[in-house]
Amino acid sequence: MGNRATTGAAAARYTPEEVWEADGGILTLGEDELRALVSEALSRVPRRVADRVFAGCIFIMAKFEWGAATYIPRELLEGKCAIALSEKLMDEDRESAIRTILHEVAHFHLRHVPPGLASDPGEACDCRQEREAEAQVDRWLKPPVAARRAQRRR
Ligand SMILES: [Zn+2]
Repeated sequence: MGNRATTGAAAARYTPEEVWEADGGILTLGEDELRALVSEALSRVPRRVADRVFAGCIFIMAKFEWGAATYIPRELLEGKCAIALSEKLMDEDRESAIRTILHEVAHFHLRHVPPGLASDPGEACDCRQEREAEAQVDRWLKPPVAARRAQRRR
């Protein structure tokens, strides 16, 4: 640890290790595999976005072992937005699981409102929000300019 290109005060992104330690709130009761996945996903977004996620989001995965249903008291939510992940996510390959997590983070980042809650009836279709979220994920996952230049030189 410590010799990565992204370390240093000026780094644009956190490392997965830094995200793990910041712990934006991953409610899985000791599910380290999911925590590692969320940590990796949040290491792909700019620091200022990750900071907003730490302050405003909590990731919840109701584990199969928890049984058919789970009650989550408000104390655990700390007034945050919840990103609810299905355990099915763990069956996806790593890159697509990261995309799935970042897609939900994009809805938070873009302050999207679920169609059922929108006051404007024009928002009944959430297609626009889905397209916006996907475009945001593409921007986050695009390699940084320096890396693209290095690739071109090869
Ligand atoms: Zn969506």
